Amino acid sequence: MNSPPRRRLWPWIVDVALVILILAVGLVGSVAAYRSLALKAAGQQRELLNAMGQSVVGAFDLQLVRVVETLQAASQMMSAQPQLTHAQFARYGTGLVGDLSPLSLLEWQPVVPHAQLGEFERLANLEQPGYRVVEPAPDHQGEGFVPARERELHVPVRYSWPESGAAVGVDMAFDPRRMRSKQIARDAGVPIASETFPLIRRGQQTAAINGFAVSAPVYRSTRPAGVEARRHELVGYLAGVIELPALMSEAALRADANGLDVFVFDQEEKHRLIYSSAGSEPFQTDERDTALSVDVGGRPWQLVLRPRPGAFASEGDRTPLLALATGGLASLLVALAVARSLVVRRRLERTEVDLAEDRQRMANVLDGTAAGTWDWHIDSGRLDINERWAQMLGRTRAELEPVTGTTWERLCHPGDLIEASLAMKRHFSGADERYTAEFRMRHADGHWVWVQSNGSVFERDAEGRPLRLAGTHMDISRRKADEQRLQDDARALEAANRQLRDLAIVDALTGAFNRRHFNDVCLAALAGAQRGQAVALCMLDVDHFKAYNDRYGHQAGDTVLKALAQTLKDGLKRSTDALFRLGGEEFGIIFSATSAETALHFVDQLTTALHALALPHEGSPRKVVTASFGLAWWAAPSSLLTPEAMYAAADEALYEAKRGGRDQVVMRCFLAGEGEAEARPSEPMALSGPQA
Ligand code: GH3
Ligand code: MG
Ligand code: MG
Repeated sequence: MNSPPRRRLWPWIVDVALVILILAVGLVGSVAAYRSLALKAAGQQRELLNAMGQSVVGAFDLQLVRVVETLQAASQMMSAQPQLTHAQFARYGTGLVGDLSPLSLLEWQPVVPHAQLGEFERLANLEQPGYRVVEPAPDHQGEGFVPARERELHVPVRYSWPESGAAVGVDMAFDPRRMRSKQIARDAGVPIASETFPLIRRGQQTAAINGFAVSAPVYRSTRPAGVEARRHELVGYLAGVIELPALMSEAALRADANGLDVFVFDQEEKHRLIYSSAGSEPFQTDERDTALSVDVGGRPWQLVLRPRPGAFASEGDRTPLLALATGGLASLLVALAVARSLVVRRRLERTEVDLAEDRQRMANVLDGTAAGTWDWHIDSGRLDINERWAQMLGRTRAELEPVTGTTWERLCHPGDLIEASLAMKRHFSGADERYTAEFRMRHADGHWVWVQSNGSVFERDAEGRPLRLAGTHMDISRRKADEQRLQDDARALEAANRQLRDLAIVDALTGAFNRRHFNDVCLAALAGAQRGQAVALCMLDVDHFKAYNDRYGHQAGDTVLKALAQTLKDGLKRSTDALFRLGGEEFGIIFSATSAETALHFVDQLTTALHALALPHEGSPRKVVTASFGLAWWAAPSSLLTPEAMYAAADEALYEAKRGGRDQVVMRCFLAGEGEAEARPSEPMALSGPQA
């Protein structure tokens, strides 16, 4: 017995690995696409940010340039006027400090050597009574001011526009930081910005606003060349105070419109945050920041733009995520589809293996049974057979090619074709569940091979018409031979039995029924007779037969008996008429005759036939063999009539005939009820005399 084959594991491992690989490649691809798209989106965002940044910086620059250029122009005009009056300055101030300008304050800050300070204050007091040169109290307590300390050069604010709350009289020289930008401006001959600081408002208690000053140098002559000349020619500074919020207003508006926060750093002051549109929150660097450098009156500033949360979260952001999700999902679906197809393929392979095993098993079974197989394509006529089909007929399949239904018909015994095709029709019509036929087929050697064919239709068309019929051929020659032998034996037995039966009722010498059978036949005749038919019994005895034997020998006597019996048998008319040898040379004939005349006529015919034989008998007065006849006839026998009574009646008539001279017929007729049982027979009705 074959054990079922063990399922191999490694193809499944390969399949699982393949699916995982597909999934991994798909996911990695999706992540790569996501990254690339995200990078691209980030790049686009950065470009957008840059463009916005440029626009913001442009707005900022425009404001700044306007202020610086204005200051420069004003400072140059002031150079042309040796003595600046309050009224003249007020005119500049109203012209330069306006609602739309970021310039919140304009100051005239002359340079006054310490030696001239007294004179300076005196002259100033003429215009502005109470004018004093001061500086913030050193302890920074409150808004306290103290008279300016002694220093080589004082830079007091002489005029201010607007005047209210201005730092008029404050000596800027008290603060070296403020002075640094002024000195640079003096040496460079261009306006220079200071670092930012909380703006001072004398007499005002409001929260300090960040701002810075841009100082433009004013020289005695216009445009002195070289640092030494500039230092020598310097008369003072025209300083514009710029409030950062005002300077940034336009830029901040643009930034806000683009969803950006803007931060401003002073690079020179260790990257100090000097402005933030995001309120007072501490600044922390962010990867989304875009930094742009600008020059503010000679100081390097940095503008940092930062998108507000959600500012760029529109469609651009979702695409990479969408790609990742779609890619991941697609990979998963592909992996699932591949997994499914692999499972189906493995199952299919399994089924194919099972089918091949089934086929092999079937082939083994067929080999074991030595069956030929056939598969008939009814429409095309093609007949697929195996090698055994052909071998059964002493041929090879190749020899028979092309094999069709006609090949089978050609090889089949013509006498068996009809029965086989009838069996096929019965199966096609559904009358027989299976096609079964036995027929002879011609062997290559010339003899016939008995074949049993079994099959059934396994494919039909839509109308139920058979398309394929397949089955097996078995060589049943031996069985057929056995059957034939059995049949022959049975026939022989039958013949022997018949012989035995005949021997029991037939006389061996003459072939006539014997005495034992007489009673049975008599009873049968009486049974027929009791349906209203007449019945007759004729008995005869050869005359002087002892003398014949004596003269011609016993064997010649037997020959005479045979010839006599044959003549009598030939004379019988009906199948129910029967001849008996009742003993030695004595015979009986049971026959039917509708009338007494018919009966007598029948017996006369027998005597005539016997005479016609003319068997020589020298020991007889007639010189030929003759016989005496006793005939009894019942017109309508009843059930009382017995074989014994019939025998007795005929025997008595025969005795009469002997006594009457032999070679004659004596007849007795019985009407209804007569001659039965104990009844005495009537007188002889007619006698036929001895014939010449
Ligand atoms: P009849 O009847 O005319 O009075 O004279 P018969 O000579 O025939 O007398 P019977 O009937 O008494 O004789 C019968 C003889 O028939 C005796 C015997 O020799 C002969 N016989 C009987 N059976 C056979 C037989 O089977 N073969 C031969 N050859 N002769 C037989
Ligand atoms: Mg006798
Ligand atoms: Mg006799």
